[in-house]
Amino acid sequence: MPPRATHTSAKAKTAQSSNNHPDLLELARHLSAAEFGRLHEIETYVQENIRQQSVEPWNQEALPVEMLHRLGDLGLGELFTDGSSQLFQGLAHAALARADVSLSSIIGIHNELIVGTINTLGSSEQRERWLPGLKRLTTLGAFCLTEPDHGSDIAGGLATSATLEGGHWRIRGSKRWIGLGTVADVAVVWARDTADHQIKGFLVPTDTPGYQAQKITHKTGLRIMQNAEVELDLSVPESALMPKATSFAATSEGLRGSRAWVGWQAVGAQQALFDIARSYAVTREQFGKPLASFQLIQVALATMAGNLAVSTAFMGELTRLQEEGRLTMLRASLAKATLTRIARESAASARDVLGGNGILSTHEVAKIAGDIDAIFTYEGSHGINMLIAGRDLTGVSAFA
Ligand SMILES: Cc1cc2nc3c(=O)[nH]c(=O)nc-3n(C[C@H](O)[C@H](O)[C@H](O)COP(=O)(O)OP(=O)(O)OC[C@H]3O[C@@H](n4cnc5c(N)ncnc54)[C@H](O)[C@@H]3O)c2cc1C
Repeated sequence: MPPRATHTSAKAKTAQSSNNHPDLLELARHLSAAEFGRLHEIETYVQENIRQQSVEPWNQEALPVEMLHRLGDLGLGELFTDGSSQLFQGLAHAALARADVSLSSIIGIHNELIVGTINTLGSSEQRERWLPGLKRLTTLGAFCLTEPDHGSDIAGGLATSATLEGGHWRIRGSKRWIGLGTVADVAVVWARDTADHQIKGFLVPTDTPGYQAQKITHKTGLRIMQNAEVELDLSVPESALMPKATSFAATSEGLRGSRAWVGWQAVGAQQALFDIARSYAVTREQFGKPLASFQLIQVALATMAGNLAVSTAFMGELTRLQEEGRLTMLRASLAKATLTRIARESAASARDVLGGNGILSTHEVAKIAGDIDAIFTYEGSHGINMLIAGRDLTGVSAFA
């Protein structure tokens, strides 16, 4: 396998010599000069305009839509389709997660499961109608798969029905946990065709009579991401069916890429934890000395840096395989499950370094820890991703 080209600009050299830069493995040096510059622009923007500014909306469970529009201006709504390298996409997702995990969840699902699904499985009319606004993030989408009674067993259990009657699809059912369900313009709805019992994907404008969404409140993580219960009792034209979304295999294809993206979220979240814990340790004094001078604190920071390096290395290699078209579900599930588990461990260490302040969302670590708990579960729970990997590794299914 040819080695990746390396790029060493002045900025890369600065990052290399800095003792607090979280990209220990300097993955960004493999980007082209243009992508390296674009990544730096995104990193700078989100650190200056999103990181601190997202704390209060997180506390309030509010969606700062204007922040999404700014992310659209930075081109983050079209990462999936603008020809960016996989490595750039991954590092951009990590950069956003480092500033705020909720917004990175919205942007990740938007790219992987909304734009990606419509672009890959939709008709040319559907692409022309929805993609321009989605790419600019002036149009928002919701991915409606999970149901109140079917989460992990959604493939076999999905109960929302779609019946073709007189040139229209009649769709009935309930969805749960749907990100942006209350504010989206278009919903990607997965329903079971009552004729052939296959799971099919439909594009439903959310102003269709019979689409109703209720925000889920009291979440302890991803509080900016508006999740919803969605009730569907509606009728859409026959053309709402995405032509290539005619079985659960089509959904799985998208979920593979999105599980890999969650691995990048775990990288970015751990970068943030390291940033915050390190900065706290060098400034807070106890016993007349900075916390950073105590061996136990250094072990905590070094453990976090090691976890981050392992996570980054995993994603760097996974991205390389992705670029070669060799991202298997085993690899994606293992990355998602393993990196979110490691990120939870890093969150516990960071919370400890901050003492009592570690449980205040205003000091960010508690906010990030709650967010990591949520990404540990979505895109397939930790357990289910491990079972997917276990089935692949042994040839034996342990699901039931
Ligand atoms: C913040 C957030 C955002 C989300 N966003 C979306 C979204 O935008 N769109 C969408 O469609 N969905 C979304 N989801 C849903 C998410 O994908 C599901 O929560 C996830 O698949 C788990 O389903 P569940 O919550 O019903 O848990 P359950 O399936 O009830 O699982 C509960 C526990 O049982 C375990 N378990 C289940 N079956 C087995 C088994 N056979 N063997 C061993 N253990 C098992 C699981 O691992 C888990 O630990 C989101 C969820 C969250 C929390």
